[in-house]
Amino acid sequence: MALIVQKFGGTSVANPERIQNVAKRVAKTFDQGNDLVIILSAMAGVTDSLISLAYKMSESPETRELDVLLATGEQTTAALLSMTLRSMNYPAMSLLGFQAEVVTDGNYCNARILDIGAGRIKDLLKERNIVVVAGFQGCDPDGNITTLGRGGSDTSAVAIAAAIKADVCEIFTDVDGVYTADPNVCSKARKLDKISCEEMLEMASLGAKVLHLRSVEFALKHNVPVYVRSSFNEEEGTMVVNGDHDMERPVVSGITYNKNEARITLKKVPDQPGIAAKIFARIADANINVDMIIQNTRSGGETDLTFTVPKVDFKKALNIEKQVAEEIGAEKVLGDESIAKVSVTGIGMKSHSGVASKMFSALAAENINIAMISTSEIRISCVVEEKKAELAVRTLHTAFGLDKE
Ligand code: ADP
Ligand code: ASP
Ligand code: MG
Repeated sequence: MALIVQKFGGTSVANPERIQNVAKRVAKTFDQGNDLVIILSAMAGVTDSLISLAYKMSESPETRELDVLLATGEQTTAALLSMTLRSMNYPAMSLLGFQAEVVTDGNYCNARILDIGAGRIKDLLKERNIVVVAGFQGCDPDGNITTLGRGGSDTSAVAIAAAIKADVCEIFTDVDGVYTADPNVCSKARKLDKISCEEMLEMASLGAKVLHLRSVEFALKHNVPVYVRSSFNEEEGTMVVNGDHDMERPVVSGITYNKNEARITLKKVPDQPGIAAKIFARIADANINVDMIIQNTRSGGETDLTFTVPKVDFKKALNIEKQVAEEIGAEKVLGDESIAKVSVTGIGMKSHSGVASKMFSALAAENINIAMISTSEIRISCVVEEKKAELAVRTLHTAFGLDKE
């Protein structure tokens, strides 16, 4: 008997039949004597439809109103699962984010969880209810509805698991675990029995959307055991473990890609102190995250400066930089949205050399041009043409010996 949080993603609740399957699965776990909190995503595609609906009403919808709208996706599935369970004579009760006391900051559309009261969840559990919570949403201290950023219901699940000290947080999705690369892109990807939080954090931040980045941060910080598995079968999944004592580690354990960034280049920027600060201060003021940055030194006191920003912020960032370019006397600003970032990750890299050169040669052999490079202790990322991303993933997967037999 355990206290279990189960989260079901969009494809797992995509239609009434699937919601019924989820209900059966939940009922089975409940019948085994476990206490259950269920976190749900919106039905697959619903969040996207709501966003396009919003853009039909306004060129740039107010983010506060957008969150009121987007939260309805998860409100729907929470109610549907709860009524399905009740029709099967199970004591289910749905709660929205604010009722579950999920308190976030006021950063609409990308809010961070500050605290989870969970008093009501605990009370309901004591009375042996199955508590069904709408994921992805919370409420700021002023009572405004917020959402946690795309994919954020994983974070709701792990954060609630931390708040109620659950024994495990199970993430049910459309693949049966975490793989060495996206199995929908690389058919030779291998399922991992376990992955360290550190590696999962790196993979999530680099685009492996199987877990929302902040859910892994919560797992690490609050020591929540996270188990990723399929909602369509009973296969063993992947355990995300905090601290891993394996002695032998592959140098590279995963390949990821991300098509959510765009590139901006300022040409012929004066090579003077304070210029870079100017270029990035305005971007920071607009709350835009910059990822990779490269500066090429040219002769004649000028440099080119290139950086990447999230695609959703591309137009805003481009407009800002056009103004900055005029002010600082840069020649021009170029933008490119058709890029992808491909990365190799692995804790083993800390103590091995030669990973970068192997990566570059493998990409070269497939005639894939590298536009930008960045590295950390346990990762190397290259920006390539967007249409070459999948080929790059498969190429690197083979080159680093990760293919399944
Ligand atoms: P859900 O709706 O259940 O939250 P997501 O679509 O957010 O599901 O995440 C699951 C998807 O993550 C998979 O369908 C897969 O394409 C993708 N994915 C990317 N990288 C990986 C990886 N390394 N291992 C497993 N899945 C991955
Ligand atoms: N429904 C939200 C999204 O599509 C949150 C989630 O599914 O995790 O991004
Ligand atoms: Mg997801």
